[in-house]
Amino acid sequence: MNPLSLLPSVDRLLSVAAISSLIDLHGRAIVTGVVREVLGAAREAVKQGGALPSEDALITRVGAGVTAKTRPKLRPVFNLTGTVLHTNLGRAPLPEEAVQALLTAARSPCALEYDIASGGRGDRDDIVNDLLCELTGAEAATVVNNNAAAVFLLLNTLAPRKEVIVSRGELIEIGGAFRVPDIMQRAGARLVEVGTTNRTHLKDFAESITSRTAMLMKVHASNYAIHGFTHAVPEAELAALAHQNNLPFVIDLGSGTLSDLSAHGLPHEPTPREAIAAGADLVSFSGDKLLGGPQAGLLVGRRDLIARIKKNPLKRCLRVGKLTLAALEAVLALYRDPDRLHQRVTAVRQLTRPEDDIRAAAGRLLPALQTALAALPVTIEIVALKSQIGSGSLPVDRLPSAGFAIRPQGKKGGVLNRIEGALRGAAHPLRPVIGRIEEGALLLDLRCLDLADEGEFAAALAGLRVSP
Ligand SMILES: *Cc1c(COP(=O)(O)O)cnc(C)c1O
Repeated sequence: MNPLSLLPSVDRLLSVAAISSLIDLHGRAIVTGVVREVLGAAREAVKQGGALPSEDALITRVGAGVTAKTRPKLRPVFNLTGTVLHTNLGRAPLPEEAVQALLTAARSPCALEYDIASGGRGDRDDIVNDLLCELTGAEAATVVNNNAAAVFLLLNTLAPRKEVIVSRGELIEIGGAFRVPDIMQRAGARLVEVGTTNRTHLKDFAESITSRTAMLMKVHASNYAIHGFTHAVPEAELAALAHQNNLPFVIDLGSGTLSDLSAHGLPHEPTPREAIAAGADLVSFSGDKLLGGPQAGLLVGRRDLIARIKKNPLKRCLRVGKLTLAALEAVLALYRDPDRLHQRVTAVRQLTRPEDDIRAAAGRLLPALQTALAALPVTIEIVALKSQIGSGSLPVDRLPSAGFAIRPQGKKGGVLNRIEGALRGAAHPLRPVIGRIEEGALLLDLRCLDLADEGEFAAALAGLRVSP
């Protein structure tokens, strides 16, 4: 007898209780498609001489197939990489206030471009304009999709076919495809590089100003640092030189924390308020780096310049939606109370988390990790680690942290890759755990594991299956 005839039919499988409950959850179309795929694969395997799978095995495969097909691609993960503002993991986690504001805006119509007082048309930038002015000392503000867009838009508005003078030491590349010279060219501006990689002086700028100059620009060298024989022109001097020549002085600040984080034990990072006070006419910065908000590019500065930028038709292409504005407004509101930032803004809380606190979490979770890896030839230790801020913020500063180091017993390192892969657990239904392998150890930095998430993390460990 042909063994293929012993495979159940599509209709037979669809009528099994375990599978009809999948249909209730996900719909007939998806489940039927997976049943066909599973049966097709089984038929092929039997033709190749494989054993006939039991009906239970087929049902399990259908369950796994439906889970894989219906699981969202944008899954939450545990970021144990030690990089707090990890661009590939979505940068800053939002504070609860922002999450709530975002949900409310998502659910119902809201006054995005509507002036409730007059019943007339409003401007979406007005949602955060006053807060941004209050927090930075600027006259006006506008918001676009990210800081790269902000820089592009300001160049395209203020410097088309004109020259922008930048120090050679600041012609940076930010991860991915943001390179200052390329953005400049695409925006239609001409870059004029002055000074040298390590030293730039005021006279370098002064000698390069011509009738074609549109602005002097400073780019915060976010993701690298030059040490040794260096010189950069202080911002106030550049601003004065620009103003003597009737030119705007523009700063791309990159990270843009709104509060002096050195008050919370972090290294000092220049703020938009300081930049404006030093004479900058326009400052751009990211919403989702040290600020701890949603992805956005914020532009603050002189009212007339912001007004010109808002009139650029490209502003319409780069604007943000209501979800971003809702989250941004809520995060900015938290900055009105700088004393409690380190409790309320999630990114700031994670960045300022004391080492002792992280070490205590490691102590609580060690037994769960030991149990999960008990059968494997590895040692597990609680170790001191150094976290980094990430997103190109404060590149040379490291934050004392703690976590686990998993090392192979003996020389074979393959087991670490298997554990690392199992923790990522693309296949299992729990939240993937992302660590890093460094110098022969798998490191799990617990800085970004919130206390409230420890239970879920332990559950992910309990569900861990590592091939021996
Ligand atoms: C990060 C950064 C950017 C890009 O900002 P995004 O918000 O990621 O688009 C631009 N300039 C500087 C100086 C930066 O640090």
